[in-house]
Parts: sequence; C-alpha cells; structure tokens
Amino acid sequence: MLPRFVKGVRVYWCLDCNVPVLEQSHCGKCNSVCFKVKLTPPSDIRPAFDTEVRELRELVKAELGLSEKEADILLPRNQLVFFNKIPYIDAADEVVVQGQIIGHRYYDPESRKWRFKPMYQGVAKMLENKIGYYAVVDLPRLTKGYEIHGDRIVEANLPEKKNMYIALVTADGETQGVGVKLQGKRIRVAKYWSSKKPLYLNKPTALKDLLEANEARLETLVSKSRRILEKTLARHSAKRPIVSYSGGKDSLVTLHIALNYCGVGEAIFNDTGLELPETVENVDKVTELYGLKLHVASAENRFFESLWIYGPPARDYRWCCKVCKLTPIARTYKQITSGEIISIVGQRKYESIQRFRQRYFEKSRWLPKVYLLSPILDWSALEVWLYIFKEKLPYNTLYSKGLDRIGCWLCPACELAEFHLVEQLHPELWNKWNNFLVKYAEKKGFPQEWIKYGWWRWKRLPGDQKRFIEQLGFEPSEIEEKNQKIEYIRELKKEDNSIVAYFSIPIDLKKVEALLPIYVDKYTLRENRIEFTLPQGNKVTICKNSIEVELESQEDFIKDFANIVYIVSRAVLCSKCYSCVNWCPSNAIVYDPKINGFRVLSEKCSKCKICNKECPTVRYIADNMIAALESLITFYTAEV
Ligand code: SF4
Ligand code: SF4
Ligand SMILES: [Zn+2]
Repeated sequence: MLPRFVKGVRVYWCLDCNVPVLEQSHCGKCNSVCFKVKLTPPSDIRPAFDTEVRELRELVKAELGLSEKEADILLPRNQLVFFNKIPYIDAADEVVVQGQIIGHRYYDPESRKWRFKPMYQGVAKMLENKIGYYAVVDLPRLTKGYEIHGDRIVEANLPEKKNMYIALVTADGETQGVGVKLQGKRIRVAKYWSSKKPLYLNKPTALKDLLEANEARLETLVSKSRRILEKTLARHSAKRPIVSYSGGKDSLVTLHIALNYCGVGEAIFNDTGLELPETVENVDKVTELYGLKLHVASAENRFFESLWIYGPPARDYRWCCKVCKLTPIARTYKQITSGEIISIVGQRKYESIQRFRQRYFEKSRWLPKVYLLSPILDWSALEVWLYIFKEKLPYNTLYSKGLDRIGCWLCPACELAEFHLVEQLHPELWNKWNNFLVKYAEKKGFPQEWIKYGWWRWKRLPGDQKRFIEQLGFEPSEIEEKNQKIEYIRELKKEDNSIVAYFSIPIDLKKVEALLPIYVDKYTLRENRIEFTLPQGNKVTICKNSIEVELESQEDFIKDFANIVYIVSRAVLCSKCYSCVNWCPSNAIVYDPKINGFRVLSEKCSKCKICNKECPTVRYIADNMIAALESLITFYTAEV
C-alpha cells in the first residue's frame, strides 16, 4: 500500500457509457464529462472476475439478508464490478459498481471468512428499497461507537445474529451509516456520513465500451512504453535484452510489448519451486504461442531443503528471495552470457512505495551485470487488464479463480485470504507447508494460533497484528522474541583471555577448512581442532562444537569474532544456494562432492570476502547471532 501523500490513479466514470475512464475527465467513447470516483489511494482498481462476482453476490446475500432479486439492486447483473484494495489487517477491497462504492469486502482472520460491510451507495439503496437489514433511528445524529438502544429504533429489519451489519439512517434522513448488531435490539454505530442519494444506471457495462472509453489513454501508454524500450535498447545495444516473465499479468503485457515492438523474443522464468501449477502451465502456453526462447532459472527444491536452516521466511526476513530467486536467476544469466543483461520487467509504481521510487532504467542492486528496464512502470492495474482484454492475451487462469497476485504460493507477503484460496485450490501443497509449520511450532513452542493466523510472516510484528494478538490473549513480545530467536550458538563464555562460543550443532572441520583461504593460508589441522592466527594477531581455535578466539588485540575483535562465526556458519549451515559461487569475482569457489560442501581455492582467492557478504546464511543467521551477542562480547572484551 502506498502512503497517503502519494496521489493514486485518477478514476472517472462516464454516466452515459457506465464505465470507468482512467486519467481523463472526458469519456473517450462518447466525449461526455465524467465524474471523479472517490476511492482510497492508490485507487489501483481492477475488474472482478466472474467467479469473484458470483462469490461476492452470495456473500452480500448472506451478510445483508437479501434475496436474489434484492441482491440485483446492489449488484446489478450485466454490470462490471471493480475492486480497490484498502488498508486492513488482511485482504480488503472497496467494491465499486456504477462508479460508486457499495461496500467493503474484507477477509476476517478470526472466522477465516470473507465478510461484506455495506457502505455509501449500498446503504442508500438498502434504505430506499427497504431491503436487507436496516434501521431508521430516532436520533439527531449518528456518532461512531454510539450504542443505539431498541427504544430509539423507529423502523427496522434486524438480523437475529450478533455482529451482522445494519444500514442506518436518522429519522430526519440527514445522516446515514452502518452499524453492528449487538445483544438484543442494540446496534453500535461503526461509521456514518451525510446521506447519499441512490444512483441507478440501467445501462449494462460492456467490455467493448470500457475499451473504447479508454482507447486513447491506452494508446498513449503503449507508445510511451514502446519509446522507453526502443530508446533504452538502442542506447545499450551491447547489453542483451531478456524479458523476465513470471506468469503474471504485468509481465505478460511487458512481454507482449517488448516482443511486438522491439522483437525481444528471449525470456527467463524463475521457477522458485513455489509456483502454482497454473503458473507453470501459463508459462508453457505463452512460450509456445509466441515462440519464445525461454530460460528457466530453477531453484528446484531449495526452499524446502533450506527451511530447517533458516526457519520460515518472513516479510522482514526474506532469505527465500536470495535462495530461490536471485541466485538461480544470477546463475542462469551467467550461463547465458558473460556480458551485461537488460532484464525487462513488469514492475508498476502503484504496487508499492519501493516501486513508486523506481526509475525506468537502473542497475540491479541484487544481480551482478544486470540492468532493470521497467517499460510499464506508469500503468495502473486496470490499464494492464484493458491491454490484456484488447489484445486477447493468454493470462494466467489463477486470476479468474480469484488470486490477484501471482508468485510464490506461501510468500509471507500474502494475506491469509490468499493462503485460504491456495489451500482450496491445491490442498496437497498447502498440507506440505502446514506440516512443516506444525513441526516447527512444536519444536519452538509456538501456540497453534501462530500457524492459524500466520504470525510466522513477521520477525517484528506490525501494530495491527500486535493488537490482534493481544485481543486473542497472547503476548506479542513473546511471539516476536521466539520468531527472532536463532539458537545455533547455545552459550557464550569468557575464559581467561579468550571468548568461546559453543554451537548447538556439530562443526564439520573439513568443511570449515575448505573455506579458510578467505582469511588465512596457514593453519594447523588436528584431529579435533583447527588453529590459526588472524592478521590482527587474534588466535583462533575451532573445535567440533565451539570456536575460541584469544584476545591478543582489542582492535577489530568483534569483526574477527564475527568472521569466524561467518565461516563456521557457512560451513555447517550451507543451503547450497550457490550465491557465493556466483558472486566470487575470482571464480575461486567450487562445490566439492567429497565434503558435500564448498571449497575456496587458495591460489585464486583474493580474500575480498564478497562471498561472505552475499551468503544468505551469513546475512540471515550469522549476522543476527552476532547482533544478539554483541553487547555480551563487548562486555567480556572489556573484562579481559
Ligand atoms: S569472493 Fe573473494 S574472498 Fe570469497 S572466495 Fe572469492 S575471492 Fe575469495
Ligand atoms: S556458503 Fe555459498 S552456497 Fe552455502 S549458503 Fe552461503 S552462499 Fe549459499
Ligand atoms: Zn461515455
């Protein structure tokens, strides 16, 4: 979600054609003046697919107590429905029909169900037609949180059940709102506003009209994207252009434009091992249809193999991106060419604040020798869909099943609503993940709510999740502490003039020895220990379950200590992601099957330590362990 200061997409509505018109106040089809639709920014609306509309209709009927015919008043048939994402603890959208918000649909984490709250036009239509749950109340005004008692209700159709939504209006008709049913006849006001007049547009919304009304806008966007592509590719003709195709809508449009206008027929698909089958099918279909030269950067089963090393990924702990995305992509690029690459991506600025700040063309921060070109950066989601419908592009069937975001199916960035859908579509996949979570929770002592509500998705919990956790009677700081705990060093001790860290897993000295050339060339290997002296003079002993650093020099002690923790962690907690191999500028790292690990060739190694920096085990495990122990190390060092 973008912050409030960022202006979103400008969405207008043509009353004559009954369609949204983007970024222009005159309809491209009939030239009528359009009205601006008031939406929550960034107003990146998208069309609801048939299945979603059907499910929404059932939801609206059940939530508001409407018959099929009454539901037609709120959700007229033959009219397009649009969703606009809004901030909430889980998935939530404004539901837009005829250019008006009829309510919010949101996923309730507790009941694990979608809910519908009528708003503005929805409430106005319920009240005017006296349909569903409503109440006329004898109050001068409505106030948020106010409890309306039964004796104030002039006329009503109240639900039996608690927590259902009720359309509200004051007896003078000035104020409308929405309330929640409490015990008996009481209603709590959830929101109120100055009364709205219901608006009825009988013209069906046709896709044809929608496309025509936005044709000029789409043409402008396509020519801009085309210009960006042509200019950049011409200016950087020595670099190899490759489209990054994910199986999602944005990269589909990007691919189509790059192929059609610039003849880029080479693409890469990153198979993270966490793609839904529909996505893989779509990639195959698109490859065949357009005759693409497709490279597959596969992470194979790396995610599940690495899980017990790193633990579940989190929004603020994305080791999976490094292991399953960046490294396989970097490896594949390296195999394709030793030169530079322009990766043509379908990123859009309305997706997130990071992307809002992104430029059309920039060097990748994560991949060596790669430049990112984002030709559809300015497009909104609806514009992407309009292009897809216009060109009849083969989009991923997951969209029509209700999934709005295509990517790893257990990504911690997902909402519970998305997980729920994945579970329904592919229970076998979800069970695999759930089985891991159950075992992990048991081992770490998490309550089952940690799985149910997806609390593994954060190391540091956001405010709304903390409040939710508290409401359920748990202590957020305890969950956070456990989420953050990395237990590979079980004890840190000071002994005479040295500091010893005891590991909770055995240290394979052969694997450590194989990595030593990044620090030293001279060392002594005995049966149960390795000894060497670091450049600052600190003497190191690595045993089968501990590391000991003698403190000869205070200078850089923490750095030296950290370096030893890095190398031991890399040796014994390696996820075999090959990131170190990819990044090493001297090609000094090779996989050695004899030790089932990586070996640094001392004759080639320049001791630059880039391999440490790019290793996910160093970044996500060793660095965190050092950070957690830093104050203790400093304290001990001062004592020695
Ligand atoms: S990245 Fe640098 S330190 Fe690591 S193996 Fe390669 S040359 Fe040596
Ligand atoms: S040592 Fe290399 S292969 Fe192993 S986790 Fe680190 S970067 Fe990946
Ligand atoms: Zn029009």
